[in-house]
Amino acid sequence: GVSAPVGMLAELDAEQRAAAEVESGPLMIVAGPGTGKTRTITHRIAHLVEERGVPASSCLAITFTRRAAAEMSNRITALVGERGSEVTVATFHSLGMSLVRDNHAALGLPEDFALVDADRRHRILVSLTGDERKARQVVAALSRARRGGVVSDEVVELLSDYIAALRREGLVDFDDLLVLPVELLESDAELAEWYRRRYRWISVDEYQDVDEVQYRLLRLLAPAGANLTVIGDPDQAIYGFRGADVGFFLRFEQDYPDAPVLALTRNYRSGRRIVEGAVRAIRPESLVPERTLWPVGADSDHPVVLHQAADETSEARFVARTVDGLLGGATFHSLDSGSADGYETSSLGFGDIAVVYRTDAQSRVLAEELTRQGFPVQKRSHDPLSARAGVEPLLRELGYAGPRSGTVLRQLEQAAASLVERTGEQAEQLHTAVELLAPLASRFGEDVAGFRQEVMLGAEVDALDPRADAVALLTLHAAKGLEYPVVFVTGCEDGLLPLRWPGEQQDDTAEERRLFFVGMTRAQRRLYLTRAARRGQAAAAQRSPSPFLSELGDTAVRGDDSGGKRRAARQLSLL
Ligand code: ATP
Ligand code: MG
Repeated sequence: GVSAPVGMLAELDAEQRAAAEVESGPLMIVAGPGTGKTRTITHRIAHLVEERGVPASSCLAITFTRRAAAEMSNRITALVGERGSEVTVATFHSLGMSLVRDNHAALGLPEDFALVDADRRHRILVSLTGDERKARQVVAALSRARRGGVVSDEVVELLSDYIAALRREGLVDFDDLLVLPVELLESDAELAEWYRRRYRWISVDEYQDVDEVQYRLLRLLAPAGANLTVIGDPDQAIYGFRGADVGFFLRFEQDYPDAPVLALTRNYRSGRRIVEGAVRAIRPESLVPERTLWPVGADSDHPVVLHQAADETSEARFVARTVDGLLGGATFHSLDSGSADGYETSSLGFGDIAVVYRTDAQSRVLAEELTRQGFPVQKRSHDPLSARAGVEPLLRELGYAGPRSGTVLRQLEQAAASLVERTGEQAEQLHTAVELLAPLASRFGEDVAGFRQEVMLGAEVDALDPRADAVALLTLHAAKGLEYPVVFVTGCEDGLLPLRWPGEQQDDTAEERRLFFVGMTRAQRRLYLTRAARRGQAAAAQRSPSPFLSELGDTAVRGDDSGGKRRAARQLSLL
């Protein structure tokens, strides 16, 4: 008979195990949300190291965020012990940063080269264009040009002046972190071969969001025949607006013709009706029309709850009241504990709840309302540059390149405690800096260069502490890859989901639909989709429901506050 699997792969199902056990060569895994993609890739690496004798130091795992990288690294170490820390787990940017750092001399960069911040870049662009507005407008086009995109001649000219100006100051920008390694490895075959030998086993999670430069870097490190595992879900491709191209996912089979393509079909994350609702929502524009997604994990039959509020404040109140009820407050505890899935919500903590939204602007009212109720919240920003822009000048002011990282942190704390005449914004930035840097400082100790690198690569994007006892507020983009027992997707309105800037044409509803799909599939046990009938003061404040809601059918019920819960409970008892 078939013996039960033991070792590193015991925690995987048959499909996942088959993927983890593929011997060598290229491999593609295409699978929907919650099917254990991240888990499979992590266990595959552990299996290679522990059971196949692959040296940990020859494994490179690329993930999408610093937080995902940290989690994967911890998990691998938990599975294989100390030598798990020899596995390189990186984001594309942190990998690029280490390539640039290791080859700074060949690239003509000084040893203490730095990453340009938004302020400094702006000043450089103003000096080149002589125009504040132009300087702001041209940033995206420059980035496109730098990454080989089509732009006007004017931008092409500006680009070379901009790069020259950066270099004069010993600076690189974010695009350089990817473009410079590609140029370097394309021009130096020996060096490229050296990296290929160093990283013989490469895995990429969230592969659907790879962009052209990242793809070229990957091709250089892992040409046809190499041990490259990519894993992802085309229906969760949400970075097209920033140049990612799901086409690279679809092209993998051509570029690596001998690669097996495997699927995972069992969703371990979400309740049955959440999975069904999400699949219905994506179906009209799915890139994986043949997808199978069996809900097997959460034995929850709870329907998706739709709530319409009068305006954004009452939407936020609904969220706060519902949180209160779920956490055992008086409002609907008695109803909920009798619900069909027998899920004891009163055992939930604040950290089990996420409130997600399409635009950062929506978060203020939500945070205010939750805070007013006395609920702790933690917020994750969508725009790493704007958050970092506040932190970096402070670090510079305090000479962060000099003393060890712990000293930097103490100086920041003192500065915060003294709060010297500062504007509210400065004070807030200082506070943020202390919060963001505290965990880093202890991790980096004497390694000020590493500390600085981490700060510059935007540690704050991942500042959300998964163990904190606080409701998570995050954008749909930031929610990717994460899961929470309870999720509120707020602002389910036409114009927000899909997002449409006033006066502009809708250009990519498909990507907006995928964002909605990502949001829905973060939920394990309870999913609330809320909307406001009016938002803001403008005459055009009247909002109609998101067209995506109309796909949900009987997977969803209307819930108006506690009365809605009662209706939902009644509907369940009919099943
Ligand atoms: P996403 O597309 O959102 O990134 P994913 O495919 O990466 O999702 P994971 O995050 O790896 O999915 O797994 C989803 C959840 O299911 C996690 O809580 C994970 O621990 C659990 N899970 C995955 N596989 C199994 C399994 N074989 N047995 C039990 N639980 C599992
Ligand atoms: Mg994942």
